[in-house]
Amino acid sequence: MTYNYRQILLAADLSDERDHVPRQAKHLAQTFHADLSVIHVLDNIPMPDTAYGTAVPLNQDSSYEMLETVKSRLKQLGDELGIDPSHRWMVWGVPGEEIVRLAEQERIDLIIVGSHARHGLGLLLGSTASSVLHHAKCDVLAIRLPDEVAREQPWGQPSSQRI
Ligand code: AMP
Repeated sequence: MTYNYRQILLAADLSDERDHVPRQAKHLAQTFHADLSVIHVLDNIPMPDTAYGTAVPLNQDSSYEMLETVKSRLKQLGDELGIDPSHRWMVWGVPGEEIVRLAEQERIDLIIVGSHARHGLGLLLGSTASSVLHHAKCDVLAIRLPDEVAREQPWGQPSSQRI
């Protein structure tokens, strides 16, 4: 089977230690000559648009600051990855749900998420990566986040060894 991804969506949590995932996303987009989009979902900042009944006004300085910080980090990431501004998405909601919803809306054929194993596979269920994997209608690539696998193991060694 030949894979030919045209529209790739990077789900970015914007945490510094996870630069590995955006780099891989850019590499894959270049390899497939695909358009790269990025989404960050705000799940801890009130929605500023009071036109919606459920919205909470952004009336606290800390919320404004957080929003501005997220905006500038998303802009910086988009610039670094060469993502067209029209393909940068900041969305309010539950990350797993919004990532899948946007992927369908934008006809994405590959979603890229980071994945960690520090809590063990069982507890990975319920995480954003797991939610996307279970609900997306397109392919999903879960990129293992570096260091965390080793950190998970108290002895810091691979879990299997040649004997
Ligand atoms: P988690 O399962 O929450 O540890 O996150 C795993 C991956 O899901 C991250 O590496 C991102 O790719 C994605 N992700 C988590 N939170 C968000 C968010 N708020 N917005 C966009 N993507 C996210």
